[in-house]
Amino acid sequence: MKLFDVYPLYDLTPVRGSDVFVYDAANQAYLDLYGGHAVVSIGHGHPHFVSRIKDQLEQLVFYSNAIINPLQQALATKLGQLSCLDTYQLFLCNSGAEANENALKLASFYTGKSRIIAFQNSFHGRTSAAVAVTDNSKIVAPLNAHHPVTFLPFNDPQQLENELKKGDVAGVIIEVIQGVGGLDQPETKFLGQLEQLCNLYGALIIADEVQSGYGRTGAFFAYQHASITPHIISMAKGMGNGFPIGGILIHPTIEAAYGLLGTTFGGNHLACAAALAVLEVLEKEKLQEHAQEMGAYFFESAKVLPEVKKIKGKGLMLGLEFDFEVGPLRKKLLYDHHIMTGGSSNKNLLRLLPPLTIQQNHIAQFFTALKEAL
Ligand code: PLP
Repeated sequence: MKLFDVYPLYDLTPVRGSDVFVYDAANQAYLDLYGGHAVVSIGHGHPHFVSRIKDQLEQLVFYSNAIINPLQQALATKLGQLSCLDTYQLFLCNSGAEANENALKLASFYTGKSRIIAFQNSFHGRTSAAVAVTDNSKIVAPLNAHHPVTFLPFNDPQQLENELKKGDVAGVIIEVIQGVGGLDQPETKFLGQLEQLCNLYGALIIADEVQSGYGRTGAFFAYQHASITPHIISMAKGMGNGFPIGGILIHPTIEAAYGLLGTTFGGNHLACAAALAVLEVLEKEKLQEHAQEMGAYFFESAKVLPEVKKIKGKGLMLGLEFDFEVGPLRKKLLYDHHIMTGGSSNKNLLRLLPPLTIQQNHIAQFFTALKEAL
């Protein structure tokens, strides 16, 4: 059987990982500044993560959501504590798109409305409503295109109000730092205006923290750098350090009802054990604070490079913008210097999403290689 050929692949086959490195079969180390797309948060093969999963594997891997699973409550409690959102409610699922799908559905249930406002250059996933609010017509099939969605630019409160005034908007979905789009951010002032307008016209704010959450930007969630209160927060990538898990945090004013949302695999025992291990390591190793420090070091190191036209992002969700396309540079970094980096829909942007355990010497290694490659 052939694989459905949808991914252009780099010629690289990692067979094991350790902290910020992955290794191929010949034991060549690759510095992972991509984190498997912001997924590997606490480092490859973290011993606590491995032993937590192994222990759970021997106890119980899965049972459906028809029984009491105390690991889900333990996860909710720890997540509430670390994110400072202990009054929110947690619904668990399996991926970022699924988290957004549930967030959008819940906003629609709650408001009784159906239109969603999203932002230009957004990426929210590939399932039906999630892809409909993604600003990339190439990945929206005719089936998905029927959702009522309006795309607006950042930082234009007047246009936002004009749309919200129409009275049919269930929610506004926003990446406070765009990931796939290339690390653009709205102004903090605009986030405040967005909050005021949503509250005025009864639309919910959905913060898509699938990529930017879990300490990556130096705050638990990126929106917490501004002081707004989303109604729903979607999460996935860093949550399980590679074990598939996603979820939404739901404001206390939104009440649950049996059957409103549901999933077979979401919140299973093994996934909860993985997610608990991630939070325990984030807390113990103070990785959120560390992300902020390493981000600052990164900014300092990048500032002195004349080829870097702009440094974007926060903490360890970073982008270096050049005045040329970075495809060939990424290949050089990978094949000549054994460093994995990311791209984005902005072709001039090198995207960096390393494990939050990265140290100064790794960042220095990257800049030495970058200078040579340039
Ligand atoms: N939302 C954001 C901001 C993302 O960056 C992504 C994936 O890149 C998603 C949603 C979709 O997540 P998944 O690929 O787990 O469905």
